Amino acid sequence: MTGNDTLNRRSVIEKLIHDAFDSLEENCFATLGQEEKPMWEKPLIGIAAGDDPYYDYLKEHIGAFHWTPAEAFAQKYAEAPAASSLRVVSMAFPQTMETKTMQRQSDVFPCDNWLVSRGEWEPLIRTFCRRLERSFEEQGIRSVCPDLLPGMTWMRSDNVGHASTWSQRHTAYAAGLGTFSLSDGLITPKGIAVRFTSIILEAVLPVDGKVCDDPYGWCSKCGACVSRCPVNAISSDTGHDKEVCAAYEDYCIENLWPAHIEKGDYIFGCGLCQAGVPCAHHPPKQGAISYRRIQPSDDPQLARLVRTSLMDHELGIPGTAYYDMQLDRLFEYYTAEPLKRNYFVAVNESGRVVGGIGIDVFDRLEGCGELQKLYVADDYKRQGIGRNLIGIIEEEARRLGYDKIYLETHSNLKAAQKLYESMGYRSMERPEYSIHETMNCFLLKKISNEANQ
Ligand code: SF4
Ligand code: SF4
Repeated sequence: MTGNDTLNRRSVIEKLIHDAFDSLEENCFATLGQEEKPMWEKPLIGIAAGDDPYYDYLKEHIGAFHWTPAEAFAQKYAEAPAASSLRVVSMAFPQTMETKTMQRQSDVFPCDNWLVSRGEWEPLIRTFCRRLERSFEEQGIRSVCPDLLPGMTWMRSDNVGHASTWSQRHTAYAAGLGTFSLSDGLITPKGIAVRFTSIILEAVLPVDGKVCDDPYGWCSKCGACVSRCPVNAISSDTGHDKEVCAAYEDYCIENLWPAHIEKGDYIFGCGLCQAGVPCAHHPPKQGAISYRRIQPSDDPQLARLVRTSLMDHELGIPGTAYYDMQLDRLFEYYTAEPLKRNYFVAVNESGRVVGGIGIDVFDRLEGCGELQKLYVADDYKRQGIGRNLIGIIEEEARRLGYDKIYLETHSNLKAAQKLYESMGYRSMERPEYSIHETMNCFLLKKISNEANQ
C-alpha cells in the first residue's frame, strides 16, 4: 500500500514512528559509559488537525512569528496543500524511570542522566526526524518535521517571553497529549518529564482533539513543583517565571557543571521540578472515579490507553488489539449495534479516561458475549477499578441476553488473569474460534446463575 491508503490505519503510523525510534542506536547513555541503557522511552503519539483554529490563537497568544502547520509545510514544499489536508503528529518521549528516580534525589543540580539526556536531545531528535521523514516519503507521504526547518528558532514574545517559532508543547496539547502545568510543562499520560517533537503530514487522518478544555485541567495545583524549585521560579499564584528559571540555568552552567561530563554544545535543562512531584510519572489523581457509557470524545484517550498498556507488556504487535481496525473509533463501533455490544469507561474528575471495558456478541458460542478491551491506567491499578468494570459489563451482558462470557487474554498480563479467575472465569483450551492469534489464555464464565461452567 502507498499514499493515504497506508495511513487509513493509525497503527501503521505508530509503527513507522516506533520503527524509527527503535533504530536510534544513539538513544543510550554512551556518554556515561552505559551503552545498554536507553535515554528516552518510546513516544506517546497524538494527532492535531492542520487547520485547528488553535494555531490562529497561538499567533495571537505567542506572536505572529509562530507558524501554522501550513506555513511550516510551505517552507519545504513550494506547492503546499490546503491546511485541511494536513495533520500534525505530535510525539512525547518520556524520561526513563531510572532517570526520574535519580533526578528525584537531586535538589540543586540535575542528575547526570538528566543532564546527558537533555544535552544529547537535539542531535538525537534530528536523526529521528530525518529517518521519519524518509519513512513517510517511502510511503509516498509528503512530510515536514519543524525541528528540521532552518527557520526553527527562538524569538521574544511580548506575551510569553522566550518562545519558539513552533511550540512543540502547544502542538502536543492540541494533539491530545495532555494539559499544561503550573511549572510550564505539559502533563501527559506518562507524566511531565517528557520532551516533544512533531511531524506534519499531508494525510487526512482522524484527529485526537484536546483531552480537556481547561488547558491546565490535569494539573492539580498541588504546589509540589514550587517546593522543588531551588530559586522560587514557580509560584502557586503566578505560575512559572521563565526569566528566573533561565537565570538559574545560566548560573548552573557557569558554576555547577560537573567536571566529568564534557560540556560540548549541550543545551542545559534543570528539570528539578519534573521529578519527585505527583505528576512525574502520570497526571496526578484528581477526585473520585465515575463509570459511564462511552462518548465520542473518549476515543483518543482510550486508544492511547490500550496501545500504551499493550506496549508496556511487549504486546504492541500484530495479532493483538493494538492492530484492531476499530481501536481509534470505539464509540462508533460499540454504539452501532446497541442490542449486541457496548463499552463503558472509568473517568476521574479532570476528565481523564483511566479505564474501559467492552462487551460484544460472541457468535461462535450460543448466548455468549465476549468481554473485550479491559484496560486500566497503570497509576489507577490495584484500586478495584478493573473489578468494578467487570461487574458493570456482566450486568450489561445479562441485559443484552447473554448467559455466558468468553474472553481472550495473554499470559504476560498476569494481574488481569488473576482478576478474571478471582471473579469466576475459568480457563479453557484454545478454541478453534479464537480471534487474536497472539493471545494464549482463554476463559469462560456462565453468568445466568453465577455458576461456573
Ligand atoms: S507538581 Fe503539582 S502543581 Fe506542579 S505541575 Fe505537577 S501537579 Fe501541577
Ligand atoms: S527548571 Fe529548575 S529553575 Fe526552572 S522552574 Fe524548574 S526547578 Fe526551577
